[in-house]
Amino acid sequence: MELWQTMLRQSVDSGKDLVERFGFDKELSERLNKLFHIRINPYYLSLIRFPGDPIWLQCIPDEKELEEDDFPEDPLAEDSHSPVPSIVHRYPDRVLFLTTSQCSMYCRFCTRKRKVGDSSKINMKYIQGGIDYIAAHPEVRDVILSGGDPLMLTDFMLERIIAGLRDLPHVEIIRLGTKMPCVLPQRITPKLCKMLRKYHPLYVNTHFNHPWECTPEAKRACEMLADAGIPVGNQAVLMKGVNDSAEVMLELMRKLLTMRVRPYYLYQADITKGANHFRTPVSVGLEIMDRLRGHTSGLAIPAFVIDAPGGGGKIPLLPQYVLGRNGNQIILRNYKYDIFTYPDVEDETKSPSPGVEKQFSRKKARAPKVYQPDKVQV
Ligand SMILES: *Cc1c(COP(=O)(O)O)cnc(C)c1O
Ligand code: SF4
Repeated sequence: MELWQTMLRQSVDSGKDLVERFGFDKELSERLNKLFHIRINPYYLSLIRFPGDPIWLQCIPDEKELEEDDFPEDPLAEDSHSPVPSIVHRYPDRVLFLTTSQCSMYCRFCTRKRKVGDSSKINMKYIQGGIDYIAAHPEVRDVILSGGDPLMLTDFMLERIIAGLRDLPHVEIIRLGTKMPCVLPQRITPKLCKMLRKYHPLYVNTHFNHPWECTPEAKRACEMLADAGIPVGNQAVLMKGVNDSAEVMLELMRKLLTMRVRPYYLYQADITKGANHFRTPVSVGLEIMDRLRGHTSGLAIPAFVIDAPGGGGKIPLLPQYVLGRNGNQIILRNYKYDIFTYPDVEDETKSPSPGVEKQFSRKKARAPKVYQPDKVQV
């Protein structure tokens, strides 16, 4: 058995462990475990510094998960975009491929709580169906292995899947969405990297949310992937009490760059049943973006996105940099709130000067789809 597999076996992995290790009430911990499986591997557990700290909040269940709310179990309507059990096909040219229900740590804020940890919903028996689906859809040029965490599979199984995809000439790139470099960096082994590098172009997106997760072990794991020629990106989730301040976010982004990880997305927390205590007002995310752009390397700046409820996909949000328009002059502000005027180029095909307004009025004809919680659930 490899080290990471031995470590997994030593995880806090049940309601009972929670009672013994953290003095939880027995009945409460059973209810929490039933709602969403508890698992914290010993590496991630060792990052906790005190109860309620940003690491604790991400992995130790909270009574608030049991609060009744009207929010959907499937906020992104993934199930209705799922032509076969292992595939979510929402965008024209790329798919999510759900390969395993397992994770080495179950994040209490997981947006896919309804499936993750439940092997009746995500299972290896559906993998061939996924490969067949992609084979039959030549428009799919980008496949994102997800789950659960695809690095919970053995190297052998993972290679079978990746090799199966590489046999399809229309699959241009393969991405691995894995939290392992952050939560169980021991999973990134020389053997794994040697296997992966045979299947370029391959990308990894990992998931760090707090600077305390940027340990020497995590750094080593990310560097090994980078040394194998794999560009590593990061998808963070903005969460109350975890990383909802500009100082914490700035430190996280800078640390990621020193680990050769490029910030990719910063997600507004989804409206998932049992995870609403993590949500922040959208203004908090915008304020953080405002405090990043211009103040530090452009490389350190992720795109702030809301994954639209009901399955609209990721929508980027930016602080307001365009203050207005005066004829052909666009009024802008920079990161220090200094005001500038940019003389736009006359658009000769349209008059009088459409410019900025044109962008915003293009699709007016279509009525906007409004999110209705009771209509989203399937
Ligand atoms: C996020 C996501 C993708 C990938 O989106 P990119 O913006 O290309 O990174 C693809 N499919 C689904 C269903 C997603 O949620
Ligand atoms: S690693 Fe990803 S899939 Fe697994 S629990 Fe965390 S957020 Fe969910």
